[in-house]
Amino acid sequence: MSRPLITRRQWLLGACSAGVGLVSGCTTSKLGLGAIDTEPYPSTPEQALAQLQAGNLRFMDDQPLHAHEQASWRSMLVATQKPFATVIGCSDSRVPPELIFDVGFGDIFTIRLAGNIIAEDVIGSLQYAVAHLHTRLVIVLGHEGCGAVTATVEEMLHKPEEPKHIESLIKIIKPGLANLNMKLDRDSLLHAAVEANVRWSMRQLMVLPEAKRALAEKQVRLLGAVYELNTGRVRFLD
Ligand SMILES: [Zn+2]
Repeated sequence: MSRPLITRRQWLLGACSAGVGLVSGCTTSKLGLGAIDTEPYPSTPEQALAQLQAGNLRFMDDQPLHAHEQASWRSMLVATQKPFATVIGCSDSRVPPELIFDVGFGDIFTIRLAGNIIAEDVIGSLQYAVAHLHTRLVIVLGHEGCGAVTATVEEMLHKPEEPKHIESLIKIIKPGLANLNMKLDRDSLLHAAVEANVRWSMRQLMVLPEAKRALAEKQVRLLGAVYELNTGRVRFLD
């Protein structure tokens, strides 16, 4: 039997009635939601992935909806939030997750540090997203042309001196690039390094006890992906 669809509106109102946000922003009279009344909430990792992939196709086709930006939608988010996915991405100005997946306010929980690295604070933010906001899809999103990954490859090739703070990034990224074939041509090497860095971030997450359990029980799905600067496509990794 198929699971009945739950709308975005029902999800958010459910959070309000559960006492998450007992403020005036949660009252139905204030919502004025229009199409949101019938819009399904992606309640499984597969539905969440399908929604993000559809949004990325619209973005690639230059036909974004820019939905969930209006005042009526934002007013419903004053008291609560129900993001349906978490994205661990890079700080790079060319890779804003909300735009490349064509989603809006309250749709995805984003954690961004240069090189989409797994630093201690990233783990804390991710735990908040999964344990408290119940996002069931986690995506590690790397991108072609990543400066942090390029700097790491450069150091492995030539050992140039980088400022201390960049060195701290390189230190986190470097172990994930240990098996790269450094004799590849530069473009192929950087392409492989970006993908290897995504997989490295995923591996660091998968060994966490809470993550192991959540993944084993299929409460959460973890995926890796690479954003292509020249096409706008998000390529999900196998
Ligand atoms: Zn980057």
